[in-house]
Amino acid sequence: MADLQAPRGMSDLLPEDEASWRFVRDTTERVAGLFGYSLIATPIVEDARVFSRTSGDESDIVSKEMYVFEDRGGGELALRPEGTASVCRAYLEHGMASRPQPVRLYYFGPMFRYDRPQAGRYRQLWQLGAECIGDPSPAADAEVIELQHTIFRELGLDDLVLRINSIGTAGTRRAYVERLREHLRPHLDTLSHDSQRRFETNPLRILDSKEDASLPAVREAPSILDHLSAEDAEHFATVRSLLEAAGVAYEVAPRIVRGLDYYARTVWEFEPPSEDGAELGGQATVGAGGRYDGLIELLGGPPTPGTGFATGIERTLLNMHERGVEAPSTDAIDVATIPLGEDGPAAALRLAQALRAAGLAVRAGAPGRSLRAQLRGANASGARYAAIVGDDEAARSVVQLKPLLDDGDQFEVAVGDAAAAVRAR
Ligand code: ATP
Ligand code: MG
Repeated sequence: MADLQAPRGMSDLLPEDEASWRFVRDTTERVAGLFGYSLIATPIVEDARVFSRTSGDESDIVSKEMYVFEDRGGGELALRPEGTASVCRAYLEHGMASRPQPVRLYYFGPMFRYDRPQAGRYRQLWQLGAECIGDPSPAADAEVIELQHTIFRELGLDDLVLRINSIGTAGTRRAYVERLREHLRPHLDTLSHDSQRRFETNPLRILDSKEDASLPAVREAPSILDHLSAEDAEHFATVRSLLEAAGVAYEVAPRIVRGLDYYARTVWEFEPPSEDGAELGGQATVGAGGRYDGLIELLGGPPTPGTGFATGIERTLLNMHERGVEAPSTDAIDVATIPLGEDGPAAALRLAQALRAAGLAVRAGAPGRSLRAQLRGANASGARYAAIVGDDEAARSVVQLKPLLDDGDQFEVAVGDAAAAVRAR
């Protein structure tokens, strides 16, 4: 093996993965389009402050997972660990607040986190996501949840369990955080090192800790839902009734708080039903989202509400694979050309051009190799026809079509009729 390999935790997408990746991408594009969302693609690197200002220094992605580097000009850049902050940066930079609100955007691309690589956890991970910016209403939350749910459903993952919660707004969270501290204080020494630190800085995150998730102190923590303001509670109730109207099943899960500082009110996660989720342990969550009304202000913009989600593509593919979901096969090769002799190669090139212009997929042959060798290649490609073009065919503007998938006889057609002949069978 060569001594150079892909970086640890990062992998290549190979031709054999194409069908399933294309299925996920095409489904995302199609369903996002049906919901009126437009594609946005932001750079893979950003000014590191886009993330440090928004996710919070105590968040995993900023405190221990972000790839940060200095570029040659001395600026501090980060490989993006997530999509939302970048999309909001673009929303501000391009004055999208002056467009009709809300602005509905979706993305599909790689993110980078210095995570500990294991099944379902990588350092380059792909996410698809959507953001609905400029609408504070519960309807926007319900819409993005339904969009995420519909993409899963179209990918054969309609058994994923949606768990939702409300973490209120910053003001209403304060009272809860004090209650939570009181509850956790006597158990402090049972908590992990990280959680002990968070007890001071941001105790809400203890609820989100994977290490401590099974501790009685965490499981029996008071519910944030009992501390919501009347407005927060009403917002959450409306999200729930809209989900019910949309036929999107959910469970209320008061311990879901999400890992980033910018969330407010509605938060949610999609997980496999618990029996198979157990195997993946901490890697079970396939997608997550939340309302982030404070984020754009953290980026220096005016108060602007927003809500959105991110779905992990590798974990989506893992779940599809476990359920035996078959992606539609990608376009097969229709014709493999087999150029022979002196004049065959140029004539085969023109034939391939004409066939492609007619929408047929053509695999070019290898001039200079024998008929036998080229036929072997044509067969291996799965092409429906081999199109043999030698000097004689070139001189007469014809081609010999040989069916490869059945034992039909080879036949001759004029170059101009070749596309129709291939289509006819
Ligand atoms: P986790 O708790 O598993 O670390 P997270 O809360 O950090 O996830 P989010 O920031 O909500 O994840 O990202 C949304 C989705 O992206 C996750 O639900 C998951 O499917 C996927 N994801 C996150 N981190 C990774 C990773 N390191 N490798 C693969 N997928 C990931
Ligand atoms: Mg994480």
